[in-house]
Amino acid sequence: MNSKRVDIIVPCYNEEPNIEAFFENVQAVSAKISEDAGFMNSYDFSYIFVDDGSTDGTLEQIKLVAERGVEDLTAVKYISFSRNFGKEAAMFAGIKASASGPEGGTPSDLAIIMDADLQHPPELIIEMLKKMEETGCDTVAARRVTRKGEPRIRSAFARLFYKIMNKYCEIEIADGAVDFRLMNHAMVKAVAAMPETQRFSKGIFAWVGFDTQWVEFQNVKRLSGESKWSVWKLTKYAIDGFIDFADSPLKFVGAFGGVIAAGSAIYLIVEIIKVLIMGKDTPGYASTICLILFFGGMIIAILGLIGEYIGRMYMETKRRPVYIKKDSNIEEDK
Ligand code: UDP
Ligand code: MG
Repeated sequence: MNSKRVDIIVPCYNEEPNIEAFFENVQAVSAKISEDAGFMNSYDFSYIFVDDGSTDGTLEQIKLVAERGVEDLTAVKYISFSRNFGKEAAMFAGIKASASGPEGGTPSDLAIIMDADLQHPPELIIEMLKKMEETGCDTVAARRVTRKGEPRIRSAFARLFYKIMNKYCEIEIADGAVDFRLMNHAMVKAVAAMPETQRFSKGIFAWVGFDTQWVEFQNVKRLSGESKWSVWKLTKYAIDGFIDFADSPLKFVGAFGGVIAAGSAIYLIVEIIKVLIMGKDTPGYASTICLILFFGGMIIAILGLIGEYIGRMYMETKRRPVYIKKDSNIEEDK
């Protein structure tokens, strides 16, 4: 029997009431796994909590859990940000910590990334590990098969987003895919090595490739508190995801411009010939103004789109860090 170490990476933003319950639930699953005779390997869990600039007692809760971890010989590491950098940044910090291995020691064999609010059922970890043992795959990702309990309009937009994403982007993202995933160390290293500062993990997980298996689960309500995603945040997330992984809008805009230019050249020639043969036409103010407005609008829209890409290049060239650490019980990476 091989013994494998598993890092549980948890992004937390204002999850004070959930941290302890989360830890207990995952620990219970860990105990279940060690009693389960169906496993080929034994698994040792350690935790990397990332406090994403919470304004409540999240960090205190994490520290309490870390103390409890000392008692039952479970490593509980944490990283705390200087402000709220967003879930993407929090996941990245956790993945980087897992990739380099805490305190310069040997990194864990596996990592699981999951939410702190118990919306990602810890029980599913059992299924994920079993699947990895059976298939020898590199990563097992979870997919939500129902969106029960979620506002209908949000589900509708989410579906539309995945449809457009998969049509126009170089990568395929499964509908209902969530950031709940088991990865082997090779994949963790690959994700940690992705250098972009504006991150879209669902896209990155798909982009790095690796042999992926899926497990499914039913939607569950968060244990306590509210979802941190406002309509505005979600819209921004969708646009980020799309722009980061698609260059087809730019290509489309180029082709569209070409067709319009060719069409108007032909139109101009036709008009000149008409004037030469039949003399002056009656002036058409309305149509002219319509055309000017139409193209004015199109140009502004297209400039806006190009601006999005240029804006991103600008942000990337600044090479700003994805997050800033304020507090941590992990020694600086060697
Ligand atoms: N989260 C985070 N930073 C943020 C927003 C969310 O680290 O700025 C964490 C949050 O604590 C939770 C996970 O990301 O563990 C998912 O967030 P939430 O439950 O609000 O999203 P939803 O489940 O509604 O998609
Ligand atoms: Mg949630």
